[in-house]
Amino acid sequence: MTVCSQAPAAGTAVPVDFTDDLPPLGRLAPSPTGLLHLGNAWAFLLAWLSARGRGGRILLRMEDLDPQRSRPAFAAAILEDLAWLGLDWDAGPGCAPTALAPDCGPFVQSQRAPVYAEALARLEAAGHTYPCFCSRRELRLLASAPHPGEEGPERPDPCRTLGAAEQRRRLAAGHHAALRLRCPDESISFTDAVMGPCSFSPGEFGGDFALRRSDGVVAYQLAVAVDDGRMGVTEVVRGRDLLPSTPRQLLVMRFLGLRTPRYAHIPLLLDATGERLAKRHASLSLAALRARGARPERIVGFLAKLAGINPGGGAARPWELVGRFSPDALPREDLRVMENDMDSLAGAGG
Ligand code: GLU
Repeated sequence: MTVCSQAPAAGTAVPVDFTDDLPPLGRLAPSPTGLLHLGNAWAFLLAWLSARGRGGRILLRMEDLDPQRSRPAFAAAILEDLAWLGLDWDAGPGCAPTALAPDCGPFVQSQRAPVYAEALARLEAAGHTYPCFCSRRELRLLASAPHPGEEGPERPDPCRTLGAAEQRRRLAAGHHAALRLRCPDESISFTDAVMGPCSFSPGEFGGDFALRRSDGVVAYQLAVAVDDGRMGVTEVVRGRDLLPSTPRQLLVMRFLGLRTPRYAHIPLLLDATGERLAKRHASLSLAALRARGARPERIVGFLAKLAGINPGGGAARPWELVGRFSPDALPREDLRVMENDMDSLAGAGG
């Protein structure tokens, strides 16, 4: 997949000004579909350090739109794990009501249905959408962020050119329709703080994409774009597997007139076989590491070493690292976490 028009070579510093802002508003956006693993901790630590390092604030948004996969027990465990790591937030679950930006709460996506309905109505009224009657494997997964292998092959959508009469006929006959964004035939360009200048043609980011599933569940792309825009988020630090989602979210924000954040797509943590860490890696969950005796400061110190800001890899609390994070210090390639790393995190040698 072509992602960046001028992807940086490994090890090159990318000249991106990530520092000329007012104090940033960053965000932690966990999905309560499983326990947090080391890869989530990596992304959240860097998002937190990036904002805190410039005197910024953090909001926590629980992304629980997927009714099949989200569980309140996971949401509770995630909040506990983040606090255990030493990460805090200024707005979100567990915080007193706050006025980070007008209209910015609630911070749990399943409680934001009216906000999404209003955004969808505006996009529909402006002619940016069309109903799609195709049933796709994608349907089940649309409410979650698309990590690699979770989206079906792209193909032109036959529903794009259905006439209004045919649309009405199918809807009247009781067919359920997803709602898709009609993407303009142009490339979307942005500068990523880690990946450098990026440009995606519609073919590269997947073309017309769903905003709402045919069962009415709001899609991740719509929800995240609306939330980042309306909550006043100014920087998004997340795994680089979500880079192809960025042009889609930028389009939604553009059509809704929302201010766009800056993006930093960080390298992924991989297991010893080179597979992206995911919730199925139960042994790499923070809960499993904790049960093996791991201390949070060992984990934070290890992750900070991977980020190039803690050369010795010694134990550290997040606050002790504030001011050290820089996108330029990050490796440009994904990073493997080996069995012996886990053993040493779990306490071998204290
Ligand atoms: N909630 C998403 C996930 O856990 C992250 C979405 C984002 O950072 O935009 O994969």
